[in-house]
Amino acid sequence: SRQIQLLRYPNGLPSLADFTLAEVALPPLNEGEVEVSNQWLSVDPYMRGRMSLAKSYVPPFTLNSALDGGAIGTVIASRHPDFAIGDRVSSMQGWRDHFIAPAAALTRLPQSSLPPQRFLGALGMPGMTAWVGLHKIAKLQAGETVLVSAASGAVGTMVVQLAKLAGARVIGSTGSADKVAALEALGIDEVINYKTTQDLAGELARLAPEGIHVYFENVGGAMLEAALDHMVINGRIVMCGLIDQYNGAGQGGPNNLSQIIRKRLTMQGLIVFDHWQHYGDFLAEVTPAFEEGQLQANETVYQGLEQAPAAFIGLFEGRNTGKMLVKLD
Ligand code: NDP
Repeated sequence: SRQIQLLRYPNGLPSLADFTLAEVALPPLNEGEVEVSNQWLSVDPYMRGRMSLAKSYVPPFTLNSALDGGAIGTVIASRHPDFAIGDRVSSMQGWRDHFIAPAAALTRLPQSSLPPQRFLGALGMPGMTAWVGLHKIAKLQAGETVLVSAASGAVGTMVVQLAKLAGARVIGSTGSADKVAALEALGIDEVINYKTTQDLAGELARLAPEGIHVYFENVGGAMLEAALDHMVINGRIVMCGLIDQYNGAGQGGPNNLSQIIRKRLTMQGLIVFDHWQHYGDFLAEVTPAFEEGQLQANETVYQGLEQAPAAFIGLFEGRNTGKMLVKLD
């Protein structure tokens, strides 16, 4: 098996030198185990939190062994009655081309005519995060105004589209002209390019004079500060991610958290795995919208296992539109 290993816990933005490509021999296939060849790997911002010994809701990665992450592959050998050669499966055995695992570590992909990698993005963990945040946490109502940061990413593109489907007005922030255009193609109402906008608060006041009902937070820093000032009374803030802080020094946090009190805001943290019992409801609701072409899936694909570290680092440099994926040869 070829696999990407972490050599050391990175300081600041990870670099390619923090990773290595290693070749390890797989053990023989035991009773109850399945051998899988991966086709698609996911790289996600939360993985940065595991590349550190700091205490978190997920344990640190082990150095000098294969990294874990979402993956989609095909069964190539099986000693378990539930899995046959050719079955499409998802697992957390990413960052590697082949693996052997107990059957319990695998999930069969749902029957669908959609491309399999969709289950790592729009119909996988990031799409589920968008749906849980909007519907279970913010309890979004038609006619409300939603603001979402990192709007052109895997979670963000789904927040934009699901909020539009629910009848909301949607404003997003992103970091390039190409991404502004991609968001406009998804039907977003207004986009802020945070890299070229000097006065975020002024821009929000112009775009949402009536205020923001739901802020879906993926970034933190200056955008959170501007959003707090423009929330309506009884607004809801879904604290999904703070990518601006994942590599250490961010733009700093907001100084106006007292707006939470004055405006009786609900600002709630989200860990998507707490809601996984609703994944079936999410798929039942959202899969038909993809099959009927009501929703689009944006993807950025890096080719080859050796590109996985570059794809991961690219998340922090904004190199993706939609889900960042690695396709294996
Ligand atoms: P994305 O696909 O959104 O990729 C990350 C994007 O974030 C980049 O493309 C970039 O876009 C933007 N970005 C990176 N660094 C910065 C920065 N310093 N300031 C502003 N924008 C930045 O990733 P995901 O959709 O997978 O994740 C989005 C957020 O959701 C992350 O914070 C992640 O941790 C969180 N998350 C949380 C979950 C939960 O259970 N709570 C589950 C899944 C994700 P741009 O060009 O716009 O800068």
